[in-house]
Parts: sequence; structure tokens; C-alpha cells
Amino acid sequence: MPLSGARRWFSSNEEPGFHAHTPVFVAQSAYLRLVEHAVSDLESEVGGILVGNWLLDAESRRQFIVIETALPARFTRQGSVYLTFTQDSLVNLNAEMDEYFPDEQIVGWYHTHPGMGVFLSSYDAWLHHHFFREPWQVALVIDPNSATGGFFIRQSDGVLDTGRYFGFYEMDGNSGQSFVRWNNLQQELEAIDKKGADLNE
Ligand SMILES: [Zn+2]
Repeated sequence: MPLSGARRWFSSNEEPGFHAHTPVFVAQSAYLRLVEHAVSDLESEVGGILVGNWLLDAESRRQFIVIETALPARFTRQGSVYLTFTQDSLVNLNAEMDEYFPDEQIVGWYHTHPGMGVFLSSYDAWLHHHFFREPWQVALVIDPNSATGGFFIRQSDGVLDTGRYFGFYEMDGNSGQSFVRWNNLQQELEAIDKKGADLNE
């Protein structure tokens, strides 16, 4: 796991007993792409897929994902309170994956909730279980109006909590520069032992 070149952002949901089964690492360029797409429409939901790799840490035997980029979905049907991937949008995204990212995987999806906060609706959860079935695939929700965001990640037993989200690792390459501006995430969580939270299930 590229822990040494990354800084961890925590959500306040993270506490003993609630750990991400699949830690998420996000390239800074991917974070910037996600934010740029999210703020492009402050009224209607926008979304797309998260592209990167699912990996296994040889030493700890823990799986994790690295998000390298984001692909905005076209041909979505969207309104102020919903976004859905149509068959056409999924076909199109798969074609783009084959053409531009043959060595990478769809590690999840993202969408915005303008002014509504960070959660998964029952429809979002249905969509996640239907189209993003791998246990390590994640859902990112961003509220561009309040500059908040979080990852929904399945637990080791496969359960997905639709109300409690996780933070992530920003891959800053030890540059000392962070681009993360989401108000609901913080770099330290006093309630938990950081190392324990990262390494325990
Ligand atoms: Zn939603």
C-alpha cells in the first residue's frame, strides 16, 4: 500500500468497529477532475465512473484500490434529485475503458447531491449492488454546494452502510501539498488510534 506517499483524510463516521474493508487511494489529478466535474452543475446531479486498480498488499494481505482518474458519464438521465446510468452510458463507458484504459479497472462510480448532503439513497444503493457488484467497488458522493464528499465502501461481510461514509488517502507523493478542500473530512481523528484504524479490520 502506498502509505508513505499519501495523507489520510478521515470522516467523522470512522471509529473503532467501523473500518473500510477496502481503503481508497486517490491520485491528486483524479481528485481535481472529480471536483471540477462536481462543481460544473450546482443544480442537477452529475456523475461517472472511477478508473484505477484493485490491488493486494503483499505484506498485510489487505486489498485496496487506487483511483487514477474519473470518467464523466454521458447519456445519463439526470434531474435535481436523481441520476441514472442508462444502458447507452454504460456501453459508452466500457468502450472508453477498452480504448483508453485497457490495463485499468472500473473501481467504482461517483455522483453529486447538490445541496443534499453525502449519503446513498435507496436507488443509489440499488444501482451500486446492481452494476458495481465487486466487494471492492466503491461509491463516491459529492455535495458541491457544501464542498463535502465521502466514499461508501462495503464492510468485510459485504454489508454497505448507506449513511456512513469514509475518507480516503490523498496520494500527494510527499510533496507537502494537498488539494483536498472537503469540509467534512479531517486529517486526524482523535477518537481513534490512526494506525489501528488503518490496519485493523
Ligand atoms: Zn444519489
